Amino acid sequence: MTTDTVIKLHNTKTRKKEVFTPIDPENVRMYVCGPTVYDRAHLGNARPVVVFDVLYRLLRHVYGADHVTYARNFTDVDDKINARAAESGRPIGEITAETTQWFLDDMGALGALEPNHMPRATEYIPQMIAMIEDLIAKGHAYAAEGHVLFAVDSWREGYGKLSGRSVDDMIAGARVEVAPYKKNPMDFVLWKPSSEDLPGWDSPWGRGRPGWHIECSAMSYELLGDTFDIHGGGNDLMFPHHENEIAQSCCAHPEGEFAHYWLHNEMLQVEGKKMSKSLGNFFTVHDLLEQGIPGEVIRFVFLSTHYRKPMDWTEKKAKEAEKTLRKWYAQAAEALPGGQPESHVVDLVADDINTHGVLAECHQFSQAGDLVALRSSMELLGLLGEDIPDWVKAPDVDLSSHEARLFKARQAAMESKDFSEVDRLKTAYTEAGLEVRMSKTGVELVPGAGFDPAKLDNL
Ligand SMILES: [Zn+2]
Repeated sequence: MTTDTVIKLHNTKTRKKEVFTPIDPENVRMYVCGPTVYDRAHLGNARPVVVFDVLYRLLRHVYGADHVTYARNFTDVDDKINARAAESGRPIGEITAETTQWFLDDMGALGALEPNHMPRATEYIPQMIAMIEDLIAKGHAYAAEGHVLFAVDSWREGYGKLSGRSVDDMIAGARVEVAPYKKNPMDFVLWKPSSEDLPGWDSPWGRGRPGWHIECSAMSYELLGDTFDIHGGGNDLMFPHHENEIAQSCCAHPEGEFAHYWLHNEMLQVEGKKMSKSLGNFFTVHDLLEQGIPGEVIRFVFLSTHYRKPMDWTEKKAKEAEKTLRKWYAQAAEALPGGQPESHVVDLVADDINTHGVLAECHQFSQAGDLVALRSSMELLGLLGEDIPDWVKAPDVDLSSHEARLFKARQAAMESKDFSEVDRLKTAYTEAGLEVRMSKTGVELVPGAGFDPAKLDNL
């Protein structure tokens, strides 16, 4: 435990960078909104996972691995899931189980540690119903036509503070669904009725299912208590999702303070454009992994932009990241795992998760040949565990035919005095990451850390 590290985080609640003081340093608690499980995670979904994974690693480093509790939910009841089940004819449970595992596999490939708790919404329905009943009893919610709605007028003093808008502004500016049973157009759904073909649970308001927002309030309360340290998520969740979480939690548990620090990551673009299916630049993490882009490369590209700035994914960045990582891994392999990172490197991560600053330091360590500092910094960022990734290691390829070819070319060149073919081959082998050793008796090609056998094709 290195409690002399001062962590500073930009708190959306106060719009300031603040010194982070945990409620209980023995149990630092963080909640991050997780995915709705009906399809593969697209690249943008992965950004908060990586950002908050770095924060989780920092907290574990500073307070000790056993003194941090991180919860991230799976939304496994949602109309998008119902629609996917209806169009595919597959059971809902099958779809959610499959996509949950996909998510864990893909995020694992990006080096994300699994949170301590990964609650599924459908496992917390009784707790959600209890919370909704409590909100009704306290005058913050009302039942109408099989629905239960949160009454924003019952908490005007608090609603909108996180995102910085008043209820009146919201009504004027928002395209809200105006339902006849709503007392105020901004009132949001806590519970809604389910027809027989949809998932539903018995409740005091009839058979139905929860609205989306209530699950995070109910699950964070169950797992982390009425007051915890950090709540994270993408910028796009600030309103209405996080605003509604705050309203539900603060009104159901007025004795608590819900989350002390709110962190939001900015969105992701692709080649300077918003990612969208219509622009044809929409892809999933799985797509990139399938194309042979290693998870560590994706993680590196993410970490090269500060989490509060828009992140632009480009092919060029991925190529450069791969080149850099190949070099660093070859160097880091010379140092032992598990070393203590330099305190100024920890301070960079502690300064509102300045990962790009750490990468700049890594470039310095690499240049200076400080391999111990390089390796420990990469470990802190989650770019490296105990083992160097397999994709970096020189593949086991039989090079004897290439060695014979270069040897023959050289023999011919000795006769003709034309060395152009020898030079061409030597350049090509070097570019493929091979070291060319020539002697009178033969030729030896030795793979380096950056050896790419694909570059030997069509030679
Ligand atoms: Zn949430």
